[in-house]
Amino acid sequence: MNSHVFDLIAQEEARQRENVELIASENFVSENVLRAVGSVLTNKYAEGYPAEHASGNRGRYYGGCGVVDELEEYCCQKWQEAFSTDYHVNVQPHSGSSANLAAYMSVLKPGDTVLAMDLSNGGHLTHGSSVNFSGRLFNFVFYNVDENGFIDYADLEAKAESLKPALILAGASAYSRVIDFERFGAVAKKVGAYFMVDMAHIAGLIAGGVHPSPFGVADLITTTTHKTLRGTRGGLIFCRPELAKKVDSAVFPCCQGGPLMHVIAGKAVTAEEACSPEFRDYAAQVIKNTKAMCDAFIRLGYEIVTGGTDNHLFLVNLTRTHPTLSGRDVQEELDRHHITVNKNCVPGETRKPQLTSGVRIGCAAMTTKGWKEADAVACAERIDRIVTALAAKKANEA
Ligand SMILES: *Cc1c(COP(=O)(O)O)cnc(C)c1O
Repeated sequence: MNSHVFDLIAQEEARQRENVELIASENFVSENVLRAVGSVLTNKYAEGYPAEHASGNRGRYYGGCGVVDELEEYCCQKWQEAFSTDYHVNVQPHSGSSANLAAYMSVLKPGDTVLAMDLSNGGHLTHGSSVNFSGRLFNFVFYNVDENGFIDYADLEAKAESLKPALILAGASAYSRVIDFERFGAVAKKVGAYFMVDMAHIAGLIAGGVHPSPFGVADLITTTTHKTLRGTRGGLIFCRPELAKKVDSAVFPCCQGGPLMHVIAGKAVTAEEACSPEFRDYAAQVIKNTKAMCDAFIRLGYEIVTGGTDNHLFLVNLTRTHPTLSGRDVQEELDRHHITVNKNCVPGETRKPQLTSGVRIGCAAMTTKGWKEADAVACAERIDRIVTALAAKKANEA
């Protein structure tokens, strides 16, 4: 049977093949991940947890779960192996946002205070935005970044002491520097708060050994599996073993119904890949490519938030170098040249979120496609020519 859907999938496949993909949260999965996610496991209901599950939350609400029980246990083991940890893991969250909702519900009551990074400084919607469940259910307060865009650890400590949050959250969607988990953990300990890390963006770098690990420091760790981890779209929650029962009950039955067993199969394949030596090479190359591209932009006269990068992304601040161009202008012009980026707020942002004064650039996806440092530098030079021409065009029109 002919379906319009498959025409559209073919079009999207061509777009992904032909474009330069620089969105920091995207990547390309393997054929094996696609096969697992496209499998008959999508037919199976499996509310509950495997018969022998470690947290003590055991048993499914449906028959015929023998195979999926084995699959889910295998998936959990592989994720523990990928991060060399004995933390408990829940592999059922449908996404990073669902993982965060369940992680909050496991240890917080509605109205509790949480200290986190604001969306406009690089945090995520689920870190207390007023339009998100997080900002509506909990009392989020925010630590600042300094005028160069670095996390202000002194502000974090002062706010933790004066506001006595129940939970302190580290992690971001647009932060290009190493996050000092030990320092966060020490502050949380001092004020008696739970410490949670949302490693959605950098999880692949942590598994690949090129960013410090939050395991052993944080009480709760959430992630997506589709950003630098390069797997199927989904979420995970890790926790200290003593929180296992609370976390499992928060995922099901508190926040979700039946798990997506085809996605859990995709997560298991993702974990197998993250355990491989090739994955460590990929993670190391992501860092090299991102640094090379960021350095090229600096040589070309661009201003980079924090002056550089330690991870898979960086933020170009156009405010001083290209005052007539918004982040949206640059995003749209690059789209016309088949280069995909996203507009992004910069510290001290003066434009609306629909416009912004910056763009976020990430190199994980193009590293998967085989980029080396020279490719990243050549792309920075190409983007510079496009941006320079756009600024000249604007000046002529004015
Ligand atoms: C992407 C992201 C999420 C949410 O992931 P979704 O799967 O899109 O719900 C949560 N936290 C951070 C820090 C993220 O970057």
